[in-house]
Amino acid sequence: MEQAEKAVEEEADKVKKKEKKEVFRAKRRIYKTLSQDYLPRLKKYENQLATFGDRNSYSKTDTDATFMRMKEDHMKNGQLKPGYNVQAGTENQFIIGYSIHQRPTDTRCFEPHFQKLQAADLPFPNTIVADGGYGGETNYKYAKKEGFDTLIPYNTMRKEQSRSFKKDPSQVMNWEYKEEGDYYICPNGRKVPFQFHSHRTDRYGYTRAFKVYECEACTGCPIKEKCTKAKGNRRVYYNPAYEQLKKEARESLWCDEGAQIYAKRKVEVESVFGHIKGNRSFRRFSLRGIDKVNIEFGLVAIAHNFLKQAEWNRLFHRGNKLTTKKPRRKINFFVVFPF
Ligand code: SF4
Repeated sequence: MEQAEKAVEEEADKVKKKEKKEVFRAKRRIYKTLSQDYLPRLKKYENQLATFGDRNSYSKTDTDATFMRMKEDHMKNGQLKPGYNVQAGTENQFIIGYSIHQRPTDTRCFEPHFQKLQAADLPFPNTIVADGGYGGETNYKYAKKEGFDTLIPYNTMRKEQSRSFKKDPSQVMNWEYKEEGDYYICPNGRKVPFQFHSHRTDRYGYTRAFKVYECEACTGCPIKEKCTKAKGNRRVYYNPAYEQLKKEARESLWCDEGAQIYAKRKVEVESVFGHIKGNRSFRRFSLRGIDKVNIEFGLVAIAHNFLKQAEWNRLFHRGNKLTTKKPRRKINFFVVFPF
């Protein structure tokens, strides 16, 4: 920007000396537009881009806040509002870790949330329980790399159990697979053999590897409309790494122990969420800026934990006499939820 401004000024000086009046006026108009309109606007856009970071929006009144879809949608039109994504982990309904994010998607908050927890030297949970919003390839891989167990469904896991999904001819999961020749048999009885490897990099720089299968011939297929929208043959993009992780997720959630722990997620975490938002009406931050918001939610979390402890004391003690055995505090699971 500064270099461009300097070049414009130098050029204007040259024009004054050498060129005729009309040419000078025409050029001056251009230089004026550049210096008074385009260059200041460029500077403004550069500043805005720096504020954006890796986000795609920000609020003018609180530049740290990002526009997100909120659960509270009074107008029922999916209105976007500036906010922060609060992630909190609980154990026995005590908040044992929280983090504030500027990203609206929960999937991308999982890793930074646990990085913060690891950096804090707090006792780390043995098993992470979280809902389907966190079940992405990157999160499963991260958990595996860090060596903690997870009970996290992926977003289509429940759908895959439905009768309509199991009857859907377009779903590759319902097709027969022949390992020997590395091909599928589609519902029309045609071969869908492996063709080539493909890679896709998302906007955050994560690369996924796919095996691409293509049907031999889809022409004249009676169920083509149901099977694919492609004009040519049906192609199947299969991600072996993610499919393996999904299989592991299913196995861990469907075993008796996993199912029991996962069932606790609702009473464990949703009640914390309900107390803070519903009973204590904490629905909006009073402060602006991510640092202040971080402190504000910290105070809310401390208040919640004090009240929870007071309630425990009331339930388990009468006078100074312990009437019921207090459960042993052992961190065996940790639940992440979007606030
Ligand atoms: S559209 Fe192609 S892949 Fe799909 S069922 Fe028909 S022949 Fe098989």
